[in-house]
Amino acid sequence: MKVVKAKSIGFCPGVQRAFNLTFETLNQSGTSPVYLLGELVHNRQAVEELQTRGARLIHAVSEIKGDSWVISRSHGLEKETLVALEEKGVRLVNTTCPRVKKVQLLAQKLNQDNFSLVILGNLFHPEIKALLSYIDGKALVLGGKEEEWERSLSHPAWKGRPAIIEQTTFPIRSFLQFKNWLRNKGLEEKTKLFSTLCLETGNRQQELREKIQKEGIERVIVIGGKQSSNTRALFLVAKEEGIPTIWIEKADELDLSLVNQGLVLVTSGTSTPNWIVEEVVKRLEKFSQGEKIES
Ligand code: SF4
Repeated sequence: MKVVKAKSIGFCPGVQRAFNLTFETLNQSGTSPVYLLGELVHNRQAVEELQTRGARLIHAVSEIKGDSWVISRSHGLEKETLVALEEKGVRLVNTTCPRVKKVQLLAQKLNQDNFSLVILGNLFHPEIKALLSYIDGKALVLGGKEEEWERSLSHPAWKGRPAIIEQTTFPIRSFLQFKNWLRNKGLEEKTKLFSTLCLETGNRQQELREKIQKEGIERVIVIGGKQSSNTRALFLVAKEEGIPTIWIEKADELDLSLVNQGLVLVTSGTSTPNWIVEEVVKRLEKFSQGEKIES
């Protein structure tokens, strides 16, 4: 067995920034509590690390007590929550990724310019929930399945001036399929299409596909949280390419009997800490060198 690591792996710049801001806050907070309002990113181990360093995880503004710091999530903060935090007078550290913020601003602008907004993404994902809150929910949200696109054809959004934007982690392949579908339905000309996919996630999907097609990868290990959309997108790319693929959150979940031969590629979602990537790679390398590994 030979192990290859993807070039883009571990935290993306947006998640790294959110972590740095949280560490800085923890260091300067003194005796005031530091709350994480929701999981900072979709990665359990990363959030646990912050909790170990003193951050308190809460899920509602009502749980905040006294003079405190509040860290919002990198996926964005819903408008109503922002208002509630301001009323409470807490010190807010807003870690919304600048690229997510850019999509929020674009959506607001398109709405003001009277476009009917169509968002490609997951209605229940925090990024989309936050995005919708800044445009009073005025958008049609579509997932990655053609049946859903077909069903949406009677929606008023298609009758006006449609403008399409994407969740930053929407799979590239689904976006391209959607573009084809628009063309086939004769909707392409009247529709304004904005690719708002974050290159960080797009590049990881692209790199994975290219490595499988050109470098003879025989097994893929995807590391990342089970709630993470961009980790799921990587898993789906490898599956589409017909390669045996394992999705794990941490090193000790890896069943080494499933990766005991051939060329193995390790990749990760953008919220996977680098230390977990290293633990997985080390475990694989020890195994390939014949060392006995505790399961
Ligand atoms: S994946 Fe992109 S948009 Fe999402 S946090 Fe990372 S840099 Fe920001």
